Amino acid sequence: MALMTPAPSGDGHVVTRFAPSPSGYLHLGHAYSALLNFEQARAAGGRFLLRIEDIDRTRCRPEFEAAMLEDLAWLGLVWDQPPLRQSDRLPIYERYLADLEACGLVYRCFKTRRDIADAMAAPHGAPVGAFRSAPLDPEAEQAALAAGRPFAWRLSLTAARATLGLAFDRLTFVEATATGTIARPADPARFGDVVLGRKEIGTSYHLASVVDDALQGVTHVTRGQDLRDAAGLHVLLSGLLGFAPPVYHHHTLILGPDGRRLAKRDRAETLRALRAAGVTPADARARLADV
Ligand code: GLU
Repeated sequence: MALMTPAPSGDGHVVTRFAPSPSGYLHLGHAYSALLNFEQARAAGGRFLLRIEDIDRTRCRPEFEAAMLEDLAWLGLVWDQPPLRQSDRLPIYERYLADLEACGLVYRCFKTRRDIADAMAAPHGAPVGAFRSAPLDPEAEQAALAAGRPFAWRLSLTAARATLGLAFDRLTFVEATATGTIARPADPARFGDVVLGRKEIGTSYHLASVVDDALQGVTHVTRGQDLRDAAGLHVLLSGLLGFAPPVYHHHTLILGPDGRRLAKRDRAETLRALRAAGVTPADARARLADV
């Protein structure tokens, strides 16, 4: 599972992070991501951070967080400062959302799940995940607010394109490969007018992750290849927020015995279950070494 040692960023420091959500037990796929990030930082004499992505209080539970910390320590990982917990930082994400609002880059969307499903199902409807809408006119918006209708904040692709001009279509992200780095075209439009402030939470994974990577000085983000498209959106958000984006690397997904990618529901492959079955940290690392 060797990955090229990252070249230090401008100030000479490499900072990597592992950012799990405590909505279940960690499995071998998480261990792989965590180890890659840990080893990259160590190899470069940099720092490895742990961030707990728990903005969704309905799915995340303290017992999963405690189990995560214990499982990562069992694997032999050490992080360089106390883990940052996103649920403690909601006012920070709100501030960045307010900046985007001040620039006209986000708008309130009052659509219900049902409205969105109907819009997507219509002939020529947007592909799943690429829903786009538009701000209400000011009077209708005031009425909706006065009626207490819940809303999400969505990024306006129209406004983002107007802000960045030609750069919008030429946007790329830097991806580390086994032999160097390559600029990959970003395609943030595939996410449509993505939600940056969820109705009940006020932020979203994409916004919180980009803000924290920047504020924590993360220089290299290594995560599963299921998040490669997200890197394209994250460079756009970084650009709009005035952040220098990190270098990305996307690793192979670890498959379970049935050939499907591991998910939190796969109990047998959780680090807990492996431990209970007598697997040692060295065994787990050895299993991941051939990936
Ligand atoms: N909390 C996200 C997850 O567990 C992290 C993704 C990322 O590393 O940005 O999938």
